[in-house]
Amino acid sequence: MSINRENNSLNANVIYDLTSFTHLDYPEHLSCIVWFSGCNMRCDYCYNKDIVFAKSGKYSYEDILNFLKTRVNLLEAVVLSGGEASSYDLVLFCQKIKQLGFKIKLDTNGTNFLHVKELIELNLLDYVALDYKSPKTKFTQITHSNKFDEFSQTLDFLIKSSVEFEIRTTLHDDLLDENDINEIIIDLKNRKYTSKYFIQEFRDTGTNIANLQRPKKKIDKSLLLADIEIVYR
Ligand code: SF4
Repeated sequence: MSINRENNSLNANVIYDLTSFTHLDYPEHLSCIVWFSGCNMRCDYCYNKDIVFAKSGKYSYEDILNFLKTRVNLLEAVVLSGGEASSYDLVLFCQKIKQLGFKIKLDTNGTNFLHVKELIELNLLDYVALDYKSPKTKFTQITHSNKFDEFSQTLDFLIKSSVEFEIRTTLHDDLLDENDINEIIIDLKNRKYTSKYFIQEFRDTGTNIANLQRPKKKIDKSLLLADIEIVYR
């Protein structure tokens, strides 16, 4: 398992930042977002460049737990995001969050399959948002990682599990075309995924890993297969 168990102390400063309140991230829940430093991918369109390249952060787990103690009955959930939160050993942190009564959502690229599985089997996650970056043929080109198979294991595990989850793809129309999205839809259908498929349009925030500009073309949404319900964000 390639997760970081060395930074397991609650005093480790592995959290890049904290968003103390949002109603947008965890469906129908008031939550905060914990942004973990570092990521095992380098997606071309990633606008969280500073977080991805960070080696440490402003806050420790203990800092976040102390913050959460002041938010009992005010917030309902904690979103673990990043970077890639599942690169860290989250068991103890999640147990402490649960003891305070919060639900937990994990945003993940799915490449730390064994750790995500462990967290779900321990009933520490209530919701997972899994990125389906691209079909296997473009995965390394877009993410600069060769971990499609690990992602694939996570996807299969989630589909068979009872945990609530969503699949989402960030669409930069110069990187993915109609055939790529249809390939994802067919793959999801073959794996018996029956829920919604979220497509979030690339956001030009002025900075991203590959210095991408706004896409020069637009995919033709009418050419996308109707086998799965697509929701655009
Ligand atoms: S978009 Fe890619 S590089 Fe950025 S945080 Fe997510 S997985 Fe990491």
